[in-house]
Amino acid sequence: MSKYVEKVLKEVQAKNANEPEFIQAVDEVLTTLDPVLKTNPQYEKNAILERMVEPERIVVFRVPWVDDKGIVRVNRGYRIQMNSAIGPYKGGLRFDPTVNLSVLKFLAFEQVFKNSLTTLPMGGGKGGSDFNPKVSPHTPGKRCSDAEVMRFCQSFMTELFRHIGPDTDVPAGDMNVGGREIGYLFGQYKRLANEWTGVLTGKGLSFGGSLIRPEATGYGDIYFAENMLAMRGETFEGKRCVISGSGNVASFAAEKLMQLGAKVLTLSDRSGTILVPDGISEKMLKDIMILKNVKRGELAEFAKKTKAAKFFAGKNSWQVTDKIDAAFPCARQNELNGADADYLLKHGCKLVGEGANMPCTPDAIAKFLGAKIMYSPGKASNAGGVATSGLEMSQNSERLSWTRDEVDAKLKGIMKSIHDNAWEAAAKYGHKGNYVMGANIAGFVKVADAMVAQGIC
Ligand code: NAP
Repeated sequence: MSKYVEKVLKEVQAKNANEPEFIQAVDEVLTTLDPVLKTNPQYEKNAILERMVEPERIVVFRVPWVDDKGIVRVNRGYRIQMNSAIGPYKGGLRFDPTVNLSVLKFLAFEQVFKNSLTTLPMGGGKGGSDFNPKVSPHTPGKRCSDAEVMRFCQSFMTELFRHIGPDTDVPAGDMNVGGREIGYLFGQYKRLANEWTGVLTGKGLSFGGSLIRPEATGYGDIYFAENMLAMRGETFEGKRCVISGSGNVASFAAEKLMQLGAKVLTLSDRSGTILVPDGISEKMLKDIMILKNVKRGELAEFAKKTKAAKFFAGKNSWQVTDKIDAAFPCARQNELNGADADYLLKHGCKLVGEGANMPCTPDAIAKFLGAKIMYSPGKASNAGGVATSGLEMSQNSERLSWTRDEVDAKLKGIMKSIHDNAWEAAAKYGHKGNYVMGANIAGFVKVADAMVAQGIC
């Protein structure tokens, strides 16, 4: 590691000592940049790393709302505006009790490189709240009602609207923020700003949303993996795949894998993992999507009603079956550790395509890279969601709606460019096949060059 990177990492650790996820994300990127820093002394001269690890702005705010029993509840809201060198801040909103400054800063930092990789003009941001729509504050075993979620979203946007705008910052969904929440947030923005603009992406189709946006992250993850396989002359036909999660990213990754002839063996949620040894069928996946998105239930309930499914309570997807060709972590950060990596490698896994953000721990990543399997970091392979958000922004600006096939073709093209750019950057700097190195370098260079050109700001 160069002295420059070492110095910046030390500063980040000292300044953000209580932010482990942020430090992990910064460490993962900075330790791969030496080759490009060496040949470009202007980056150190312009303190590019020091500036990249410091958010341009952080907004933290109170979110008071009234539950169905008339009790006043208070949550904390955040927006991290990390880097706007190449475009307006762009990144999702997450509502989850695990949300804190460290988690959001790590996500915002990753987002800067991811957005740069998409080839679209988008800066990086992230936001959210510790609000938990999955747990009612007053009735054990129940979720927040639609009306409670709406009142929370309205209060959240009442502060956030001052800090965002179609040319300033364009939030989208993330964990627990789907079509319902984006609708409520958009409605409140429109009232407060008195204007109809593409200020949020992931909107409903009847009010400016893009076809394929819901599918884009999961589909994109699989398109990226298809490109990795193609480099080795392989396809997904007959491949045995394990997936974690059963939310937005996981369910559409599963759908695309099935369309490409792969067998999807597992899905998971907070209740545990389901394993269907002969492969989850299209009908089962449809039922799971309705269970998770409409009934807002748990996989444990699905397993009870489905003979073909085995259920592993409280377990993740990595160690419940043997003969595994590919793994797709699509739930949350640090969900696949070194022991899981050992198990996957021992049972034949040759491809890991991250759908979630930072789902593999550093020791798991080291094992995958050491084994020289096809491993794609989330910032490259899950960029399809934000790329399609970028396409939604373009359609809103042009007041146009593209067809499903048009958007899907553009998504495919973008995922191929991301794959090829990461591949070429890795090869150029002597690390052929290392997508971590390639994605970090390709994402970094574009932002760094823009920052140098814009002076010290
Ligand atoms: P989502 O729809 O809320 O789904 C998240 C899934 O992860 C759910 O199945 C959830 O289970 C599971 N999960 C969460 N915490 C868990 C825990 N502690 N233990 C076990 N399972 C857990 O979210 P998503 O949009 O699919 O996002 C998943 C990941 O992809 C996140 O890392 C997100 O940042 C990343 N990502 C998303 C997008 C996007 O467009 N949505 C784009 C890029 C990256 P429950 O249903 O039981 O809660």
